[in-house]
Amino acid sequence: MSNLRPIITICGTTGVGKSKLSIELALKIAQGIHGWRGARIINADSMQVYTGMDVITNKVPVAERMGVEHLLMDFKQPGEQYVVGQWVQDAIKAIDETHRMDMIPIIVGGTSYWIQHLMFPNRLPTPGQTLSDSVAQSIANLPPELLELFNALPEHPPSAASHPQDAMLLHRLLTALDEPVAQRWHWRDTRKVMGSLRVIKDTGKAPSEIIIEQSKTALIPRYRTLCFWLYAEPSILNERLDARVDDMIKEGLLNEIKELRAIASSPACSSPDGVVAGPSDESAVQQTDYTVGIYQSIGYKEFHDYLASAEPSEKVFASAVEQMKYGTRQYSKRQIRWLKNKLLPAIYSANGGGDHAAALLPVYLLDATELGDQWTSHVLNQGERIVEAFLGNETLVDPLLLSERAREMLTIDVKPTSPTEILRARKKVVCRACTLDPSQPFMVEDGSQWEAHRRSRTHRRHASRDKKMHGQPVNRRVMVHSDIPSKVDAEDQHRSIV
Ligand SMILES: [Zn+2]
Repeated sequence: MSNLRPIITICGTTGVGKSKLSIELALKIAQGIHGWRGARIINADSMQVYTGMDVITNKVPVAERMGVEHLLMDFKQPGEQYVVGQWVQDAIKAIDETHRMDMIPIIVGGTSYWIQHLMFPNRLPTPGQTLSDSVAQSIANLPPELLELFNALPEHPPSAASHPQDAMLLHRLLTALDEPVAQRWHWRDTRKVMGSLRVIKDTGKAPSEIIIEQSKTALIPRYRTLCFWLYAEPSILNERLDARVDDMIKEGLLNEIKELRAIASSPACSSPDGVVAGPSDESAVQQTDYTVGIYQSIGYKEFHDYLASAEPSEKVFASAVEQMKYGTRQYSKRQIRWLKNKLLPAIYSANGGGDHAAALLPVYLLDATELGDQWTSHVLNQGERIVEAFLGNETLVDPLLLSERAREMLTIDVKPTSPTEILRARKKVVCRACTLDPSQPFMVEDGSQWEAHRRSRTHRRHASRDKKMHGQPVNRRVMVHSDIPSKVDAEDQHRSIV
């Protein structure tokens, strides 16, 4: 058995019962399992780190914590930035301290990428003072307008719908600095494009260089980790999530949002021109950014119109509630995608594809679709048995045999691992036929999505229009920045030539 110290993580979507399970398991460990004196819970929810605002952040009321200590919760001010790297450092400290007390750290929260970076060190880009050769070279070759843009990147990604030129310019800049990565993002996906540009700014390296570097170092886990994925069928979970939004409103959600709005608009907190200063502006180090931190909670922006209106109407209120419910369901979908597409592949890769039950990082899906008695048998009892075997270094049950849902959700396609495969995986191409405005090229993912697009009615209509125009001056020539490969439907082109 490995010398790594044991931890337990509980992942899953919002509203599925992670906190409840963590407290129940902590109480079980406190009864004494293999000499451990108990457990402490370490929060891995990026909203629950903020102080107060217990309703909007869904904190477990202290009375329901049954005396189990909760760490890294309730200690940041609204609007204060707290990012993954800081949390990982704080979590490591809390874990060390917990182990020294002969207790088990249980890391619980919906911010799965925090948990992932805690489990696997050396996967976060580190700030760099010097530029890599390739980035230095690319910057030297930037035309003035792109250089100017790079030196003053916008604070927030522009909307491609309202500012297509800005979005295209950012994509052109990324293409000039890191073409393989630029090809992975649609120019409309300004968040992704900006994210990659920020990585270049912060690390001095091209994201593709980082992918290649990381692929050379194996994923080595920091702890022996028992990972629980608490899961509920989305159709059933969604009803629960809707009901929770209604409950949150009854419990005073709007008062909290009003309070947050008051803090955000108090003159002491905002800079004179309303622009949030960057970290380089020393006079503004204490500035608060009202687009980060707790201000990203679902509910805050959804109720903006209602609370900003002089005569708030029932209709606006009802629509805010609907939007908050929709936002919550979308969030839970994104959480499942992350677990399936990022966390599981990383865990399986670190485990070396061998026997799951004997692995360093056993991962179990517990089915919380049904509550009540089913919770006790499908979640709690199974969880307790697995914890007991894990802490005793005993043979564990095969995770795929736990339930039908476990087999279904834990079985994933093997993800590409080589840097070339990763970089090629989401490559976008431009469809000439469907690009109606050359300044806004129509892009689609290469591979099966391109094949599906090629057969779509829209594409065939555009392609046949091209055919009719054959012989006439083509005024819809694609002027994408030349680096993006464009794809011409071979068949249609052939027909148009005939
Ligand atoms: Zn097309």
